[in-house]
Amino acid sequence: MTTLLTTHDVAAIVAAHGLPEVLRRMEAAITADFRRWSEFDKVPRLASHSSVGVIELMPVADAEHYAFKYVNGHPGNARHGLPTVMAFGVIADVATGLPRLLGELTLTTAMRTAATSVMAARALARPDARTMALIGNGAQSEFQAIAFAHLLGIRRLRLYDVDATATAKLMRNLRGQPDLEIVSCASVAEAVRGADIVTTVTADKRRAAVLLPAMVEPGMHLNAVGGDCPGKTEVHPEVLQRASVFVEYEPQSRIEGDVQQMAADFPVTELWRVLSGAAPGRVAADAVTMFDSVGFALEDYAALRLMGELAAGLGLGQQVDLIPTLRDPRDLYAELLPAPVLRQLRRA
Ligand code: NAD
Repeated sequence: MTTLLTTHDVAAIVAAHGLPEVLRRMEAAITADFRRWSEFDKVPRLASHSSVGVIELMPVADAEHYAFKYVNGHPGNARHGLPTVMAFGVIADVATGLPRLLGELTLTTAMRTAATSVMAARALARPDARTMALIGNGAQSEFQAIAFAHLLGIRRLRLYDVDATATAKLMRNLRGQPDLEIVSCASVAEAVRGADIVTTVTADKRRAAVLLPAMVEPGMHLNAVGGDCPGKTEVHPEVLQRASVFVEYEPQSRIEGDVQQMAADFPVTELWRVLSGAAPGRVAADAVTMFDSVGFALEDYAALRLMGELAAGLGLGQQVDLIPTLRDPRDLYAELLPAPVLRQLRRA
């Protein structure tokens, strides 16, 4: 049997543990897997583009598990009453190929993206960072805000979105977060001024330059989350020139990240190298660091595995017959026969 985890199960996990605690465990799970980077088979995700969006498959495997995520990115989906990003995923046993877990990954992607952003910022931002600008206040933004506030000590948020209703929604959802001062700003430049960390999480399927060179101040850490597809960027190339740039998996980021705008030999550092002590992260208080996040399959594997463990601990998840349970594994046809016929055949 395969365990099915629905969005209701994930909501029940968050209700039981609290979102900050789930994010904390997710950051720990993703960090642990990034530190054993060489144990995984990795490939850039397989993308199928259309004029309005992209649908992607993201596989990864170690000696024990094979996992994949199905995910889309359709910035105009609100018109259809659908989120920009929707996802589900599977974890299977490498030893047999049996899919063990089939789980929702829409909510879980928002959590894993925020946990990964914090993981990068913990290694790259100044330890005294307390103010974050959050540009793009859509579906991912609450998760980014709550993760940075609870896990990294951010105390002030400066918000901007081209759509004022998105910012109003974010402010409403963050009401009640303790010790968090929230300011709505009139422009990207105003939001970014004086910030220690700048998170860009906008959705627009084009080469946008939301963050411009004049906005970048010494010592900033840039957490660029929204430029995650060929032809879709958020950060002006001169900002990348000025920063030390860190990526998840270089072969994928060269195609999809903001780094797609740069020459093939533009220097980037894979984050796992910093997390495992093989490469330096921030080298000076006034350095500009940038995490060019695109989302990598290993993060989804770690997140889905954690959700499976948390669900098991709470007795959540349904056992579903996604794969037939056969009396004789070579007699698949028998699965289709009506029970009386099968009984008769077996008596004969
Ligand atoms: P969303 O559509 O819910 O929200 C995007 C917001 O960005 C909207 O409110 C929109 O008004 C705003 N926006 C668009 N252009 C802007 C601009 N120039 N300045 C300010 N705001 C602008 O989308 P979402 O689910 O929040 O995702 C946001 C982005 O993050 C998408 O591009 C998505 O593909 C990406 N994403 C990346 C990862 C990752 O791992 N790197 C994971 C999930 C989502």
